[in-house]
Amino acid sequence: MAFNKRIKIKTILDQHPIGSEITLMGWVRTKRSNKNVSFIALNDGSIITNYQVVADPNLIAEDILKKCTTGACLKITGTVVESQGAGQASELHAKSIEVLGEADPEKYPLQPKKHSLEFLREIAHLRMRTNTFGAVFRVRHALAFAVHQYFNDKGFFYIHTPIITASDAEGAGETFKVTTLDIANPPRTEEGSVDFKQDFFEREANLTVSGQLEGELAALALSEIYTFGPTFRAENSNTTRHLAEFWMIEPEMAFYDAEDNADLAEDFLKYLINYALKNCKEDLQFLENRLLDEEKSKPADQRSEMGLMDKLKFVAENEFVRITYTEAIEILKRSKPNQKKKFQFLIEAWGADLQSEHERFLVEKHFKKPVILTDYPKEIKSFYMRQNEDGKTVAAMDILFPGIGEIVGGSQREERMDLLVSRMEELGIPTDEMWWFLDTRRFGSTPHSGFGLGFERMVQFVTGMGNIRDVIAFPRTPGNAEF
Ligand code: ATP
Ligand code: MN
Repeated sequence: MAFNKRIKIKTILDQHPIGSEITLMGWVRTKRSNKNVSFIALNDGSIITNYQVVADPNLIAEDILKKCTTGACLKITGTVVESQGAGQASELHAKSIEVLGEADPEKYPLQPKKHSLEFLREIAHLRMRTNTFGAVFRVRHALAFAVHQYFNDKGFFYIHTPIITASDAEGAGETFKVTTLDIANPPRTEEGSVDFKQDFFEREANLTVSGQLEGELAALALSEIYTFGPTFRAENSNTTRHLAEFWMIEPEMAFYDAEDNADLAEDFLKYLINYALKNCKEDLQFLENRLLDEEKSKPADQRSEMGLMDKLKFVAENEFVRITYTEAIEILKRSKPNQKKKFQFLIEAWGADLQSEHERFLVEKHFKKPVILTDYPKEIKSFYMRQNEDGKTVAAMDILFPGIGEIVGGSQREERMDLLVSRMEELGIPTDEMWWFLDTRRFGSTPHSGFGLGFERMVQFVTGMGNIRDVIAFPRTPGNAEF
């Protein structure tokens, strides 16, 4: 028999093949023993549920049973039997156990008890072996799969945009430099600055902050495309919603105006939520209970009114609110926290940039629904957004989610060459370096739109995890790149 003729716990729980002889492999979560019998709860990551293995000390040697401690990896062959105990329909009566990998109980960091998320972040190499992180990463997988499913079904093409780029054209944030120069002793120009002409790419290069500009090039050839890749921002934001390395999904569509763009984004977000509700029931149930537990330790007025799954259903079933920035400013000006000076940044006039406290007020207190905010002042948005007729605003769109704040940022793009160039000049963006981007407007330009969804923020929303560091396997944040 090949080593890996095993059956996954998920399959057993689907089929309960009573009477069959099978082989299970997985890691011990707990073991309870008495003189007559040992019960081993085994988990192989295929599903959140542990499978009960019953070991009779007359069949399994004592020195083997001793090594079946929490964290050890086992290969167990036995018979599936209808379970006598409550809690499971079937169990495995072991005929033989092989210890594939021991885990010294004195040293294994994961004990069968509740560990704090902060502690688990310090042992990110092992935290996937916990119920919480197993659930999070199965949901994350399902959502990633759903992204491709959604766009493939709609005839969008997946474009791989470059990870190394030569410009921070978007001005989205600080970039990470990419260089092969000797940083202790770089070549210098006559003026004394670093001579990047001698660098690998013969110019300054950095890790991408967005695939949008390249996405636009593809959309103006293939009509409807999306990207789904890693994105890097060296912004020093130590928040629960920012990573230095995160994954972004960026659809970009020719022949879409701002309204088409918002329609697509809303439909897409609802599809992802429904996909998770349908395909991740056990994990979401677990995460919901975990949140309920967490809520018990909060003061009554800070507890959320809805359980995780009800919250997801609510968002999937109700229309998002669509308002303009100008309408939002009016609401915020009149709001209690603004009048009572409770906001840290008071909203006094049109033009103010919205802070997360304002976004959260709109979504969580005022509308109690996701909000699509459109038509921002051009001064607070990027150069490529389409200028509206009023001369003051651009066809931008941010989607705000409860508990998260901004989850999507997008816009209709400026397709008119003259307006795009004059905006770039106003902002001091070098049009000569961007010749390739401008060529799309020069040749066969057309209205087009797109948006970026921060994948981790979406996983946060669906799993209810409060900190973005807990929805990516190996988070990169200021000061953290250990694993
Ligand atoms: P924020 O204002 O929250 O920093 P942003 O305006 O910089 O976001 P965009 O440049 O519009 O964000 O990026 C598109 C999406 O990518 C955002 O809506 C968000 O979901 C996600 N995102 C942006 N920055 C980060 C980050 N540092 N970590 C994780 N996700 C991010
Ligand atoms: Mn940002």
